[in-house]
Amino acid sequence: MFVGHYCAAFVAKRIEPRLPLWTLLLAVQVVDVFWGLFILLGIERASLDPGLPGNPLVLSFMPYTHSLPATLLWSAAAGVLGVALWARGEHKLKLGLTLAAAVASHWLLDLLVHRHDLGLWGDAHKVGLGLWDLPMAAYALEILLLAGSVLLLAFSPVWPGSRRRALAVLCLGLLVLQTASQFGATPGNLKAMVVSALAVYLLVPLAGRWAEGK
Ligand SMILES: [Zn+2]
Repeated sequence: MFVGHYCAAFVAKRIEPRLPLWTLLLAVQVVDVFWGLFILLGIERASLDPGLPGNPLVLSFMPYTHSLPATLLWSAAAGVLGVALWARGEHKLKLGLTLAAAVASHWLLDLLVHRHDLGLWGDAHKVGLGLWDLPMAAYALEILLLAGSVLLLAFSPVWPGSRRRALAVLCLGLLVLQTASQFGATPGNLKAMVVSALAVYLLVPLAGRWAEGK
């Protein structure tokens, strides 16, 4: 999954407005940020098969970022860090749990689209519902998740009306990214794909910071 992951950030912002949007946009992709770094470092393994429908990625070994136990550890760490950085006064647990849930949402949303590559325990018992094999359905799901969650946030009391237009621009940018990655040329090699994905994962939070104005 790609931009659909950001739906969890927009929903979490509505639930816990004390968390900056840029933090949530980074949190929902943080396991993919480490996946990209681990692929470049040779710690996890993947390859490209342009013959596959929907998404050319063959994710053969990623126990440290995309197994269920690893995801839970990443999300617990994020929750603790979030409380340390942003919880002031009351309801610290709510803030920590919201950030942890944003990180954990990555695994659940990946579960819908990935082909059997998400380990339930380390690199074993791999699962994935494989919606990538139905590319148009996967694309529709990404767009629906994104648009629905942006609407939910934009018209909520926590998002100022004066910043609605900026949020719409962010949403449009994400839509363009999804469309380009879905219908554009398949990347020539894995390294180029990973580097461009990492750039997106860092630029989207920056755009979120601009959209929120803080
Ligand atoms: Zn992922």
